[in-house]
Amino acid sequence: AITLQGVSMSFGSALALRPTDLTVHRGEFLTLLGPSGSGKSTLLNLIAGAIAPTTGRILLDDRDITYMPPRDRGIGMVFQNYALMPHMTVFENVAYPLRVRGEPSDQIHRKVNEALERVGLTGFEDRKPRQMSGGQQQRVGIARCIVYSPAIIMMDEPLGALDKNLREQMQDEIKRLHTDLGTTFIYVTHDQEEALNMSDRICLMSVGEIAQLGTPEDLYFAPQSRFVAEFIGESN
Ligand code: ATP
Ligand code: MG
Repeated sequence: AITLQGVSMSFGSALALRPTDLTVHRGEFLTLLGPSGSGKSTLLNLIAGAIAPTTGRILLDDRDITYMPPRDRGIGMVFQNYALMPHMTVFENVAYPLRVRGEPSDQIHRKVNEALERVGLTGFEDRKPRQMSGGQQQRVGIARCIVYSPAIIMMDEPLGALDKNLREQMQDEIKRLHTDLGTTFIYVTHDQEEALNMSDRICLMSVGEIAQLGTPEDLYFAPQSRFVAEFIGESN
């Protein structure tokens, strides 16, 4: 499990995250949901180690990782803008994290082919990112994340750039990936329908704090505040 104890984050004098306690269970699909500026990415970046908290500590299975470098945490990230390297082929984009680790090339080939197969991109190895659709590029981003078997997979609005039909299809694919891998997923979205469809639990954020944490049913049928009721009930 990942445990946050009194974790807060200030940027200068601005408090982006109020002191927060949160436990993410092993193997669960947890969604951070909330309006723009509510602190979702800040919370993700704290767990990933991209930023260090102003107060509090972060534990991974009882080990204090508050100041552990990001690359040692066993966390994989998928970004809204894919963050692919444009001059590299699909194969080399996915192989990159393994090359950085100095893995032997036959092992790299095996793992990259397996990751591309999981996301349905067998045969696309030699393409460049710009020769692919948005959905395909995001599948490359997902393959590059799962290729090194991270213990925790984080996705920050991964479907934000895609149209509604494709978004629904990829929601199903990401859910299937979670079931197949059994890995802990922390997923960020501001779309409450997406969160209700995909999550084991939803952590609904509002201006730098957790408004409510619970199952989709908890938030839908037993909102603890007017904010939760209105945010969950909204349709877009
Ligand atoms: P969005 O849905 O728009 O991505 P979010 O929920 O991810 O929003 P955060 O990016 O976590 O929100 O931002 C939370 C608050 O912290 C905002 O008020 C934001 O302006 C502020 N903030 C985030 N990063 C920084 C930074 N590097 N420097 C200063 N302020 C920041
Ligand atoms: Mg964000």
